[in-house]
Amino acid sequence: MIKVSCILTSYNRPRGVQEAINSVKKQTYPHWELIIVDDNSNAKTKQMLQHLVASDERLKLIQSGVKDEDRYKTTRYATCINLAIPHLTGDVVTYLTDDDIYYPNRFKQMVKVFQKNPNIHIVYGKQKVVHIRNGLKVREFLRPSIGVTKHPMGKVDHNSFMHRRSCFNTIGGWDDNPQYWNHADAVFFRKLVQHWEFHPLHIVTDEHRIHPKGIQSKMRQNKKPWMEKDTE
Ligand code: UDP
Ligand code: MG
Repeated sequence: MIKVSCILTSYNRPRGVQEAINSVKKQTYPHWELIIVDDNSNAKTKQMLQHLVASDERLKLIQSGVKDEDRYKTTRYATCINLAIPHLTGDVVTYLTDDDIYYPNRFKQMVKVFQKNPNIHIVYGKQKVVHIRNGLKVREFLRPSIGVTKHPMGKVDHNSFMHRRSCFNTIGGWDDNPQYWNHADAVFFRKLVQHWEFHPLHIVTDEHRIHPKGIQSKMRQNKKPWMEKDTE
């Protein structure tokens, strides 16, 4: 049976990260592991993660231990993903951020594609994008599927794809150069598509929340995400 390795990056979102973890626990597909890489969050987040991991052996916790004075030196979520890679035991790999959620059939539907098609290396789903202001949903839309593609950059999100773990043997991990703070997923996609196509799933697999305390919004306001501790 195909095993899914999910890498969840965490930083100072005690509420969000619990919701993200719960969305993995609620998957209808049973064979998975969740590697949480916490990027030296505040005590509240760290304690909560330690507590959750202690009660579920499918969850593993890695602490990056990054010092705040070093946080600007790399694109942190890419660095955290790279820390997880040597610990993965699954056949396929997928990613989640701590303010977003998966829908329950995501793993099941994606795994089905890998099982039926030994030559497919990457699968992606449709994503619901929700804009949030002051805790309220103000707008939502569906990112459209773009078919079988070698051009997912900017069109497929970090939280919407899954690839075979063996891809790392060919292309290595994520590029964490700090110039990629707001688009390291697209930089990783660029490496993947040199070898494989992205294959669509015609169901909505995850929900991405756009809010003023996310990296994208902060950078648009000329705020430096590595200086801003207010993330939730
Ligand atoms: N992140 C991190 N270290 C940091 C800042 C952020 O690991 O110093 C992680 C964060 O936990 C999240 C991911 O980077 O999993 C993306 O952050 P965010 O959701 O704020 O970005 P956006 O949704 O705007 O792209
Ligand atoms: Mg986010």
